[in-house]
Amino acid sequence: MEDIKSLSPEELQAYCESIGEKKFRAAQIYEWLHKKLATEWDEMTNISAALRQKLSEDYYLPKLEIATVLKSEAGDTEKFLFKLADGNVIESVLMRYEHGNSVCISSQVGCRMGCNFCASTIGGRIRDLTAGEMLEQVYHIQRHDGQRVSNVVVMGTGEPFDNFDNFCRYYERISDEKGLNISGRNITVSTCGIVPKIRELADRQYTLTLAVSLHSPTDELRRSFMPIANKYTIREIMDACDYYFEKTGRRITFEYSLINGVNDSAECAEILSKLLRGKNAHVNLIPVNPVKERSYTKTNAEGVRGFKNILEKNGINATIRKGMGKDIDAACGQLRRSYTTNT
Ligand code: SAH
Repeated sequence: MEDIKSLSPEELQAYCESIGEKKFRAAQIYEWLHKKLATEWDEMTNISAALRQKLSEDYYLPKLEIATVLKSEAGDTEKFLFKLADGNVIESVLMRYEHGNSVCISSQVGCRMGCNFCASTIGGRIRDLTAGEMLEQVYHIQRHDGQRVSNVVVMGTGEPFDNFDNFCRYYERISDEKGLNISGRNITVSTCGIVPKIRELADRQYTLTLAVSLHSPTDELRRSFMPIANKYTIREIMDACDYYFEKTGRRITFEYSLINGVNDSAECAEILSKLLRGKNAHVNLIPVNPVKERSYTKTNAEGVRGFKNILEKNGINATIRKGMGKDIDAACGQLRRSYTTNT
């Protein structure tokens, strides 16, 4: 059975017509799903009981159940561990900023990219999430919190470009003015660098922000901790990013997690500067979050500042990501991991 929240307005309309219903029914159903954030068929009070019954026979309504919620001491971050209908668990994070609420969602159950500093990948990929399951993470949090979610980032567990079609459906629903209407400018997707999908995304001309997890300025070093680097070179990533910029005019973010003694030398900062010079790019520096299964440690504050200074001296835009929610395992698959290994 298909997930009804993944359908576009046109698909929903075609379905309604195929069962002899009027077009406007599709618009009503879509509004229940994506604006009123219904969780049960019976909430759809302007839809007849017979049609609700038919819908429930042909589609399912993706639902999430809260397994755990953790709130950071500062109260600015809440982490949700959600149970899916099949019993798998995923995590999503709500971050409260002055400029609004931001939700970070997962795109897969687990991940098969194998970056060796990341907790999400340790048990491999279990399955892709449907677009509806991605949407429902945002919808559930907005219902639960009672406040509008204004930003979404696809930076939780999973590689969104390894689940590209569902990611695109997610983007199209969440940015739809007939749904939550979150502006593309407030949507970020992060990839470990799946080159053909960066190009496909460029061709779609979405207005979102693309973030690329670079973490290293040379292929050799990158291959030592990111298996995807054996498939695509940094040169190929940069060419795809140039193409993305040409097509969309959108500045690209490069993520760089600083790992003590691994990728945080002055030399790395210099090579990275050369790589990005002249590009409309922004570097986001993140001191790596130690994962208990790995022996990595983070670059200290002085080292992070030093790295940033070299980039800036070379004319490269850089910011240091503000760490939020460290006390609640908010980073990168750690909560799901502790849940699945303890139960
Ligand atoms: N698969 C996508 C999105 C999920 S990860 C990607 O690779 O971009 C989101 C970001 O967190 C990525 O930049 C990822 O490399 C980074 N990350 C993962 N584990 C981390 C850790 N332990 N410390 C710091 N950053 C980490």
